[in-house]
Amino acid sequence: MAKTKTSSADSIFPSWKNRIVLKFMLISLPFLVLISLSLLLVAPYWYHQHSLQALQDKARSISQIAGYSLAPAIIFDDQENIKEVLNSLTQSPEIDYIIVFDIKDKEISRLQRSKAFQLSAEEIRKTGFVQNNQFWNLYTEIKQQGNLVGHLALGFSLKELQHQIYHIRKIIWIASFFIFALGLGIIYFLSLLITRPLRYMTRAVTEIAAGNLEQRAEVKTSDEVGTLARSFNSMVEQLHKTMDSLEEARENLEKKVEERTLELKQQVEEKEAIAKKLKESEELFRSMVETLGEGVVIVDPQENFIFVNQAARRIFNDYEEKLEGRNLKEFTSPSQYELIRQQTARRKQGFRDVYDLELTLEDGSQKTVIANAAPRFDPDGNFISILAVMTDITERKKEELALTEAKQKLEKVISELELRNEENRLLVAMGDSFQLANSEKEAVEIIKSYALKLFPGDGFLLYSRQEQEKFLQLVASWNHSLPAEGVIDLNDCWSLRKASPNFFIDQEKDLLCPHLKTSVHTDNPVACLPLYSSGETLGLMVVFCCQGKEAREPFEQLEAAMKVKKQLLLSFAQRVSMSLANIRLRESLREQSIRDPLTGLYNRRYLEETLERELFRAKRAGQQVAVIMLDIDYFKKINDFYGHDAGDFVLQTIAQTLNKSVRAEDIVCRLGGEEFTVILPTLPLEKAIARAELICNSVRHLEINFAGTLIRKITISAGVAAYPDHGEKWKEIIQAADLALLEAKNEGRDRVKVARKLGS
Ligand code: GH3
Ligand code: MG
Ligand code: MG
Repeated sequence: MAKTKTSSADSIFPSWKNRIVLKFMLISLPFLVLISLSLLLVAPYWYHQHSLQALQDKARSISQIAGYSLAPAIIFDDQENIKEVLNSLTQSPEIDYIIVFDIKDKEISRLQRSKAFQLSAEEIRKTGFVQNNQFWNLYTEIKQQGNLVGHLALGFSLKELQHQIYHIRKIIWIASFFIFALGLGIIYFLSLLITRPLRYMTRAVTEIAAGNLEQRAEVKTSDEVGTLARSFNSMVEQLHKTMDSLEEARENLEKKVEERTLELKQQVEEKEAIAKKLKESEELFRSMVETLGEGVVIVDPQENFIFVNQAARRIFNDYEEKLEGRNLKEFTSPSQYELIRQQTARRKQGFRDVYDLELTLEDGSQKTVIANAAPRFDPDGNFISILAVMTDITERKKEELALTEAKQKLEKVISELELRNEENRLLVAMGDSFQLANSEKEAVEIIKSYALKLFPGDGFLLYSRQEQEKFLQLVASWNHSLPAEGVIDLNDCWSLRKASPNFFIDQEKDLLCPHLKTSVHTDNPVACLPLYSSGETLGLMVVFCCQGKEAREPFEQLEAAMKVKKQLLLSFAQRVSMSLANIRLRESLREQSIRDPLTGLYNRRYLEETLERELFRAKRAGQQVAVIMLDIDYFKKINDFYGHDAGDFVLQTIAQTLNKSVRAEDIVCRLGGEEFTVILPTLPLEKAIARAELICNSVRHLEINFAGTLIRKITISAGVAAYPDHGEKWKEIIQAADLALLEAKNEGRDRVKVARKLGS
């Protein structure tokens, strides 16, 4: 803004620095000086000449006039008149002296104002400056009618003229000065005026040069400067636009530069931060590596140590810190060094591996380390070194070894325990199975099944001894191919004799039982396990150990195997004994609960259970079930006649007759007293009637000898009913058969009556 103000002021009153004005003035100044000097020099001269000319003209006029006046006086030598004329002439102040000469050029009169000087005759008689230019002398003729009568010398004092010229010169000096000053001012203003467009141009250019592109050269003239200004303005316009675009581009560029700078700054900051972090992490890494519990080493491709941390020094017993430069070969056996070479070859290929390495240190001690080795490459991809983290696992290895041994022992114990557990489980399961067994036959199957599981490689012979018998019968055998004794005497087995298990491990030392002589074909151990319960021999289990093995195992192994097996065999035999006793007891109890003790026939309870079950089966199979109700005729009389015992005997005999008269699957029951029932599953009614007839007939022909007394003519009555002819439920059928029996009784006994059909 200050600049603009200055420029505006400059436009009207340019500073001396405005050279163009000065130049214009300098161009004009010589002319002005010339004019001034001309005026200064020419004007006084001209004035002097002009005044001199006027003086001369005046002198000549005065001389003419004086000549006319003096001519007569001279002729007449009239001094008075001359004097008078001369006095009149002296009226004119310029005339300093007048000298009149007669025709003979003799001074006849003189009038002189100043007496101080003396004029020479020569000076008086010439026209011009005399007396050192103080006077102008006119020497002129005085004529009368064309005749020379005398001469006249007129002396005009130039003092006044000189005085005037001096004044005039002073005035001219002053005037010249003023004219010069005025001219200078005029030139200055004219210069200003002329150079104004140029100055405007200059100002505009300066402003534009200073960056103010809004500025225009305000020149309205139509001359070259105006054309220049307009061209310049249009150029500036273009420049402005260009500058605007450039400014815009610059701004964009600046913006971009700013953004880029910011980005670069951020990047630089980030890089600095990264570098800082890198440095920190490097320091951290270095301190970590140094303080790391793991050994960290860097070796070159020839396995020479380049870097070693403290932990690594401890591994290599490098207390003097002289490991760098040494080779790994110095710390390994040839075989381990070969491993290192192989590993280095893998590193070169870029692989990283973890492997165990055995170190042989200088003091001869051995250490085992886990080496986690990674390759290092330079930026050009050249393999430069190997970084390996080493963990000393010597102690751990020992512990691991001890731990492995302990683990193996433990696993062995666990597997043995598991085996024992499995064996116990099988023994318990066998006990449970025995609980479900209904007969000794089923029990034998269970024994076989579990023996195969518990002793899969062993051969078995199972002997059973029935109550009070003096021998044992072979009831089952498995995994045994040689012929075995089917029946053995109680005395044929050492174990039965001594009532404790007997093991034949070393056949040279141990005494072999007689019953085994045909059944042993290898030197494998054999065990005789008596099955005892409450001091009673229930049976015998003979075990042929390790059957199926061709070659005999070393005796120690067999003995050890037998030792382990012994306990299990004993437990097995014990459980088998208990179970057999139990089953036998159960069988006995059951028999007691369902059998009639006098006749051995099934009792009423069993009848009801069985009939219900048979009816259920028949219904499912679409079959029939027949029932025969029997009652001995007039049995009371037998009792009465032969006695009660005889009656019992009769009852037993008839029971046997009934058993013989029916099929194996038929069930004969004694309902009570002298009444019997026969259940005939699947038998049609007709066949049941025939069977009843057969029974009646058999009884009819019985001749019972009781204590020497023959009891004869025993008859029996029968009532027959069947499912589904006479009912759906067992009670209905029994009732129908009962009614039929009653009918047989009523019709005279010793006959068979069929139950009435339902609804008849
Ligand atoms: P009926 O032809 O009408 O059947 O005449 P019964 O004499 O056979 O029939 P009753 O019911 O009159 O007599 C049955 C007898 O059977 C009465 C009883 O003393 C006898 N008795 C019942 N149980 C036994 C037993 O266990 N042993 C003996 N010896 N007699 C028995
Ligand atoms: Mg009766
Ligand atoms: Mg009877």
